Amino acid sequence: MEDVMDKTGPISTRKHGDVLIVLSNNPPVNALSTAVRQGLVDAIGQAEADDGVKAVVIACEGQTFFAGADITEFGKPPQQPWLPIVVDTIENCSKPVVAAIHGTALGGGLEVALGCHYRVADKSAKLGTPEVKLGLLPGAGGTQRLPRVAGVRKALEMTATGNPIGAHQAFECGLVDRIAEGDLIPHAVGFAEEVRDIRPLPRSSERHDRTADVDPAIFDEFRNENAKRFRGFEAPLKNIEAVRIATEKPYSEGVMDERKLFMELMSGEQSAAQRYFFFAERKANKIEGLPEDTEPRPIRKVGVIGAGTMGGGISMNFLSAGIPVTIIEMDRQALDRGTGVMRRNYEASAAKGKLTAEQVEKAMGYLQPTLDFAALADCDLIIEAVYENMDVKKEVFARLDKIAKSGAILASNTSYLNIDEIAASISRPADVVGMHFFSPANIMKLLEVVRGAQTAPDVLLTAMQLGKRIRKVPVVAGVCHGFIGNRMLMPRQIEATKLLVEGASPEQIDRVHVEFGMPMGPFQMADLAGVDIGWHRDPNRIETIRDALCAIDRWGQKMGAGFYDYDEKRRPTPSPLVQQIIEDFANKQGVKRREISDEEIVERTLYTMVNEGAKILEEGIAQRASDIDVVWVYGYGWPVYRGGPMFWADSVGLQKIVDGLKRQEERMKPEFSFSKLLLDKAENGEKFTG
Ligand code: NAD
Repeated sequence: MEDVMDKTGPISTRKHGDVLIVLSNNPPVNALSTAVRQGLVDAIGQAEADDGVKAVVIACEGQTFFAGADITEFGKPPQQPWLPIVVDTIENCSKPVVAAIHGTALGGGLEVALGCHYRVADKSAKLGTPEVKLGLLPGAGGTQRLPRVAGVRKALEMTATGNPIGAHQAFECGLVDRIAEGDLIPHAVGFAEEVRDIRPLPRSSERHDRTADVDPAIFDEFRNENAKRFRGFEAPLKNIEAVRIATEKPYSEGVMDERKLFMELMSGEQSAAQRYFFFAERKANKIEGLPEDTEPRPIRKVGVIGAGTMGGGISMNFLSAGIPVTIIEMDRQALDRGTGVMRRNYEASAAKGKLTAEQVEKAMGYLQPTLDFAALADCDLIIEAVYENMDVKKEVFARLDKIAKSGAILASNTSYLNIDEIAASISRPADVVGMHFFSPANIMKLLEVVRGAQTAPDVLLTAMQLGKRIRKVPVVAGVCHGFIGNRMLMPRQIEATKLLVEGASPEQIDRVHVEFGMPMGPFQMADLAGVDIGWHRDPNRIETIRDALCAIDRWGQKMGAGFYDYDEKRRPTPSPLVQQIIEDFANKQGVKRREISDEEIVERTLYTMVNEGAKILEEGIAQRASDIDVVWVYGYGWPVYRGGPMFWADSVGLQKIVDGLKRQEERMKPEFSFSKLLLDKAENGEKFTG
């Protein structure tokens, strides 16, 4: 017995007995646009006005419950009714309102659900407050309602990390009242009928049972537990603060404090950077100059050549996505070692509870290890991850040219080598593309997709789409030494090393980078990656500090010594020996060591990266400035609250960057030269981003 009452706009209502079903249909994700918000307020008004309505169910059509704010309304003046008013209107309804949640209830979506008196969720639903990832907090009363409903601990976890929880966890903590096994809406209607006459209504904002008598130590404990994750970020701390307020003040006051904290974040630099980055990441998907009718090539089976550090990690991405991989090595020992590492990595994930034993076997079941190169013949994509040596790569590609099927994509994981030279050495250069994964390749999100001069549009598109399919963040890069990311590392490393000789210590330089928000500084990174990477391997040829370290086996963490000394737990301490080596170098070169300021380190190692980024942009190696930022955030851990090097440069001011570089120019010669684009933009008062 259902009759349609209203069907204008994205919100429609229909009655089932005395339950009013309020249904949103705003594809693709039922974002809380102005029309949706207004429709919800109107529907509650309709329920109030109709004596025949005894309870309300709010549900969504399509793939998900309200998945959050409407991002197309971001940055525009907010339109009435504002979300807090919508949520309050729902909560103040004199008849019970039940949220029927499927898909995801995120951000504003969860706030709507919290405004409802009850929540019924599909068993696969996810609930979360991702605002912190945009440098914000749930600002429609969410920080005050969530702890009252889900408890303080859960509210802290959800708001401060932004990670969603599943329906079962939500049920356990009280955020969800019932899990629907079958059809959601009939289940929610049944639930509404059950609770129809219960009074008083359980209004989230009026509850105290979960927030009274909370030990205030929980807030410091939570902050300390997550100190590493929250380092440098303002928003998690403000989320914690807001939840703490919910335990101390009545809702009406707490919600005002929440607003104040929200506005502080909203007007701050960090959230601006994080919101910028949210769009930067999405923009990175767009490939410039691709003919509109380009169709990707189907990829059903992947070949990987080399089961070393990278080949193994690369393969795991495909196996985890259910794509079969044929992996090739030179000898049995290398093959067994490589596949053994892969298995151990999977098992370590299983031990941490991230995978089931079954999933491990399933993934490994997609792997076909072999020494037979001919087994690559039926692969749709073959990624080469052999030694970083042009001759070796060309030899591998020559063999591929003979055996790969027609239309197969031939990719190289090279870090620096010229993709065009590799492509030109075979008969099908249009099929060649760079797929530059980052180490550890099964974990790092960044994938630089290197577009060669002759790379076919559909090859590029396929590599980009496949990147998404294996849950990477793919970014298009052009051909040059080091592409986007590694190329920008070079001036940083050159200047950092010169600074050592001139008077800085590895500790000082690393500290400046860590304080800036990088996960580690240049020398910590060298020790982690291996000081010996790219070393000429002649211990008698000592031309650089690095040569000197390599000659005495200080190859980094793996040898227990590099720029730092390491104990058995890989904890670093400054090395007097390295200090001596640095001083000897200074003497030999006739450099008089001096005090180096932290500011000089910033100018010579970070401003130089901006300058290199500008060159990358002006040469068309990156499609857009924001792509460079995506590379640095996902590939090297640039703090997202600073947006990325190009956004950061804009916020510092390009003229200030230029002035700093000019101050250092003499010292940085001959390696340094100005980017014309940077100079022009600074002079014209322009920005790289936005
Ligand atoms: P690695 O030495 O760990 O592995 C290379 C593997 O390739 C070895 O196991 C070797 O036996 C195998 N191999 C060599 N020639 C072969 C052939 N002809 N046929 C089959 N197998 C062959 O090296 P890696 O660190 O994995 O680097 C591989 C590539 O990835 C290089 O081009 C490197 O520049 C690039 N890369 C490395 C990193 C990193 O951090 N290690 C990051 C990004 C890209």
